[in-house]
Amino acid sequence: MDITVIGAGIVGLATAWFLRQDGHSVTVIDRRDAVGQGTSQANGGQLSYRYIAPLADPDVLPKVPGWMLQADSPIRFQPQFDRTQWRWIANFMKACNANDKQRTVAALLPLSLLSQRLVNDWVTKEGLAFDFRRNGKLVVYRDADGFRSARTLIESRPELASEQHALDRAACLALEPAVAGMGGDVVGGIHTPSEEAGDCLKLCQALAERLREGSNPVTFRLGETVESLVVSGGRISALRTSDGEFPTDACVAAGGVEAVALLRPLGIDIPVYPLKGYSISAPITDPARVPELSITDFQRKIVYARLDDHLRVAGMADIVGHDDSLQADRLATLTREAGQNFGAGIRLDAVSPWAGLRPATPTGRPVVDATAVPNLWLNLGHGALGFTLAAGCARLIADRINGQPRPIPDEEFTLARSGASGWRKAASSASR
Ligand SMILES: Cc1cc2nc3c(=O)[nH]c(=O)nc-3n(C[C@H](O)[C@H](O)[C@H](O)COP(=O)(O)OP(=O)(O)OC[C@H]3O[C@@H](n4cnc5c(N)ncnc54)[C@H](O)[C@@H]3O)c2cc1C
Repeated sequence: MDITVIGAGIVGLATAWFLRQDGHSVTVIDRRDAVGQGTSQANGGQLSYRYIAPLADPDVLPKVPGWMLQADSPIRFQPQFDRTQWRWIANFMKACNANDKQRTVAALLPLSLLSQRLVNDWVTKEGLAFDFRRNGKLVVYRDADGFRSARTLIESRPELASEQHALDRAACLALEPAVAGMGGDVVGGIHTPSEEAGDCLKLCQALAERLREGSNPVTFRLGETVESLVVSGGRISALRTSDGEFPTDACVAAGGVEAVALLRPLGIDIPVYPLKGYSISAPITDPARVPELSITDFQRKIVYARLDDHLRVAGMADIVGHDDSLQADRLATLTREAGQNFGAGIRLDAVSPWAGLRPATPTGRPVVDATAVPNLWLNLGHGALGFTLAAGCARLIADRINGQPRPIPDEEFTLARSGASGWRKAASSASR
């Protein structure tokens, strides 16, 4: 089948990879001039397979009023005359309960472990290079209560106990000496040796390079915007683009936050809203003062990953609409935090700043689904975990397109279960 994938971010490229592998003839189209220039460009770099808890957590709501008053808070809200913003917030709040959180974690864990297997195949069997490291992750706590409840959680779940270890302050320092730079209030951490990290943009580039090679190369149409999907006889017959119209047998929407507007005219209303985040990449000057492990500063909600000769520092979730402009105060907060924690090992006067829009569903579960249009599929809404989940979601959507059984349960990733109350569901999956 001739399949067009809309979006050359990590999700679209991973989708193209498995579709090509399964024998399809694939075209990838993106309005940007190069691959990986959307949200996949400079994210936190964490392949966070075992930290898949969604933002929608019962503990979040009581913290919101305090965050609203705090200038450097991890979450910022700018109310807008935008129904989709309020709808998303209402559905997000509804998802902030223990049952929904548990449901999301239970669905995401097999998906992330599937992703890990596939990403490891890309590294070991395909030789894709993207500064990949199995360096493990240390989630660092600055308050005793937070550390105690994280420790209790591990002890209560035997499947985690074999993979995660609670370490007191001294053990954290012994494992990762750079934690000394984080200050005297660090009380302990949770260490997960099997977590990984890498450069998402480099993985996009490596996938694209390989997809262009071989006997069934993928066609890339970059710098070309899909303006609408042409439907005839109830099926997508062509894409209307900035360069004209071209026919296609089938289409996968993998366009991140921008896919919402493209799909709406077909009656497909995806509950995806942009959650804006920031990163800085700082050149490393003294490797001994910079963590080898990926670090999450739990209280401050900032993640650190060492990528080649840079330290990537990322965080924040701003509910401010489709605005990916660089805000000086948010970047200053990230730079100050990086400086306080690891300033002795990095250059703060030469950081590369970046902002991106996480394509977030209210529940934190992606939408990997068919639609009522029989030759249109969705691979969207990966939120804060798109780098981590892309390979697994791509495998799932390729199997769905091929009419094959999926390797893990995927019913929680349908549009109908995406936490879309108030969204139109007319076009939600009809064909399975
Ligand atoms: C600050 C920050 C930190 C993050 N850290 C992590 C992390 O550590 N680990 C992790 O797993 N995830 C992380 N994420 C999330 C991750 O980056 C995203 O989930 C992921 O990049 C989404 O990939 P995507 O391919 O869906 O979207 P994108 O990368 O945005 O790709 C979509 C592409 O579709 C194209 N497109 C859309 N519509 C059209 C159209 N009509 N015509 C043509 N082209 C179109 C766009 O140009 C774009 O290139 C982070 C995100 C942010 C913002």
